[in-house]
Amino acid sequence: MDERRWDDFERRMRDLRSLRAAAALLSWDQETCLPRKASDARGRQAAALEAVIHERLCSPALADLIAELEAETLSAERAAQVRLLAREVRRANRLSAAWVRALAEAQSAGLLAWREARAQRSFAPFAPRLRALVALRREQAAALADGGEAYDALLAIYEPGARLAALRPLFGRIVPELRKLSDAIAETGKSRPNAFGGRFDLDKQWDLSLALVRAMGFDLEASRLDRSAHPFSTGLDPTDVRLTNRFREDDPRPAIFGALHECGHGLYEQGFGAAIAGTCAGEAASFGLHESQSRLWENLVGRSRPFWDAFFPELSSRFPDALAGWDATRFHAAVNEVRPSPIRVEADEVTYNLHIALRLEVEAELVGGDLDVADLPGAWSDATRRLLGFTPRNDAEGVLQDIHWAWGELGYFPTYTIGNLYAASILAAAERALPGLWEAVGRGELLPLREWLRAKIHAPGHLRDAEETVRAATGEGLTEAPFLDYLWQKYGALYGVGR
Ligand SMILES: [Zn+2]
Repeated sequence: MDERRWDDFERRMRDLRSLRAAAALLSWDQETCLPRKASDARGRQAAALEAVIHERLCSPALADLIAELEAETLSAERAAQVRLLAREVRRANRLSAAWVRALAEAQSAGLLAWREARAQRSFAPFAPRLRALVALRREQAAALADGGEAYDALLAIYEPGARLAALRPLFGRIVPELRKLSDAIAETGKSRPNAFGGRFDLDKQWDLSLALVRAMGFDLEASRLDRSAHPFSTGLDPTDVRLTNRFREDDPRPAIFGALHECGHGLYEQGFGAAIAGTCAGEAASFGLHESQSRLWENLVGRSRPFWDAFFPELSSRFPDALAGWDATRFHAAVNEVRPSPIRVEADEVTYNLHIALRLEVEAELVGGDLDVADLPGAWSDATRRLLGFTPRNDAEGVLQDIHWAWGELGYFPTYTIGNLYAASILAAAERALPGLWEAVGRGELLPLREWLRAKIHAPGHLRDAEETVRAATGEGLTEAPFLDYLWQKYGALYGVGR
């Protein structure tokens, strides 16, 4: 092979990655520091940048290079880069520049209308914007589906290889188990709120967030921490990974679990192998696998008893007045309360995936054309009653609670459940590989786990698809058994209920 052809490919690929990072920086800025009046201008900037990326992806010279390289025998790293960029190029070529611009504009308008509608607690002002977004996504799905299920074409953007035909039976198996466990817990009458009495100084919570992510081995010289209304993380490069967090003066839990969750994402972004960083393979293998890393740290480690044996003394030394009378046992119980909530982001580990089952059901019908946007609030309420056992009091607590549809993200929600299932499988494999894992966590030593995750999950990036990476690390693909075992074991013991 003519090495100059590879160099040409690599330059184009790295430029595309850099343009994507610039687009991600624009949206990070929008969520953290953009002046209120600048949202229209930002919408135009984002649309212009998306148009440039689309144009470059659709360049005939790039298509020729890819065709040439696909015929060559390449190293695993190079083959993955060609395969992944080829996938992006194929997707881009099936959509017009006008569609790309229309989507970017509909996203800005959707976000604005959603914020307004949510403030009014009424779906109606958002409905026309959502209708436009659904139409654009259905157009995209039709262009990408190759005659298959439209919803799968959207799902594949976030979770390559996932299928509605596999997810429906998967939820069919986990939903009854989750209902059974949450009903058993409710019957014990032990699920009382564990309120805090004192004030938790915000600066000290900021310092605590930094101490926690440092203990996880997060490189603070290759990152930033900022405040935002909803915590999120953005990886621009392994040397520039940005986390945000939120803080409440009356409750330290949002800041603690926000930091653990976002840092779990951040460690993945910092951990891509040096040989693939900055290339198409130097990215998460899927959104579900990304979410597995955040959930693993937030829930499986961060809500475990050994973790609080190690970190409660530090917590109470930072907030001695607010936590007077508290100990590790009580705090551990307080971070593992099971109480069905109408709000997904406030849900506990047991009921969380019921919220996702609801969203999958509703959005698959929306994309498939079986449900009209106008009927969405009703369908949402029905599904909430059926799955969670109550009716949302208003649209803000129901159909308007998530930002995803406002941004036109349809097919994203299942990645949360996939992440929860992968997290349990991955942690079970880590326990087998590291026999002293929980003793180390109990001493506050989190680095052995991070090192194992880095080697097995982070460093390979997207060299393989997510399920293959998980199978290589754990011996099994996407499966619910380790997750359900984990829930029954932990909450069975906490609440005294049996399977
Ligand atoms: Zn997350």
